[in-house]
Amino acid sequence: MAGSFKKCMVLCCGKQLPKEKMGSKYEEAIAGLTKLLSEKAGLDDVAAAKIKQLTAELQGQKAENGVAKADSTEVFDPVERLKTGFRHFKTEKYEKNPDRYRELANGQSPKYLVFACSDSRVCPSHIFDFQPGEAFAVRNIANMVPPYDKEKFPGTGAAIEYAVLHLKVENIVVVGHSCCGGIKGLMSIPDDGKTSSDFIENWVQIGNLAKSKVKSELSCAEFIEQCKNCEKEAVNVSLGNLLTYPFVREAVMKKTLALKGAHYDFVNGRFEIWNLNFSISPSTTV
Ligand SMILES: [Zn+2]
Repeated sequence: MAGSFKKCMVLCCGKQLPKEKMGSKYEEAIAGLTKLLSEKAGLDDVAAAKIKQLTAELQGQKAENGVAKADSTEVFDPVERLKTGFRHFKTEKYEKNPDRYRELANGQSPKYLVFACSDSRVCPSHIFDFQPGEAFAVRNIANMVPPYDKEKFPGTGAAIEYAVLHLKVENIVVVGHSCCGGIKGLMSIPDDGKTSSDFIENWVQIGNLAKSKVKSELSCAEFIEQCKNCEKEAVNVSLGNLLTYPFVREAVMKKTLALKGAHYDFVNGRFEIWNLNFSISPSTTV
């Protein structure tokens, strides 16, 4: 028994394990601790508590590191990954904040409507540490806000209408990001407008004005540089499009709603945010 405990301690503290070994080592350590706990008659309370804590920490690290995915020798189980993630969320957040979740059962009053890209690397809850109830979100290819159009864009229109008129959000933030495939797609559409996708290119052309601006102002720049600029210009086009929604315009005029543009650079770990007060104001960088 003491041997198992020692082995688990080594695994917990060891930082030199190769990544491909981590998945099975985590499993092994968790199994060892669980076994030890089930046979804990004879352990004093402090030791038992310590083992429980180590088990929880290991399970947490395993979920956070996504080791099941990193371990090439294991078959990725999508359902198990979701269950593990939910268990971690439930013990670490849900059960630790009962008041907050009880309050959320009565309704939501988020301060933000956030537009972010569908890109798996730019989840707004993750990068802004939003807690449940803090932000109403719309995610789509290249974080575009289309102009007001009941026929063409009812999905986005419904989300904006609900957020502004019913939830009465105080801020709409459009967040662009580095290495955006949608923006790259927009910038790659040939001048003759020929498209080959069913939906993607039609959608990203909402940002055509940004593309034209970048192509004319940075005509000599490399393509990658043009894309970087377009990521921000497309955000400004979206901010302009927000003003085509009568209820957004009215709330902005009454100063109950502010529109903000932002850019998250995950390559360099930078975040930039700027206001739109009918003219672009200087940005601040974090
Ligand atoms: Zn993107």
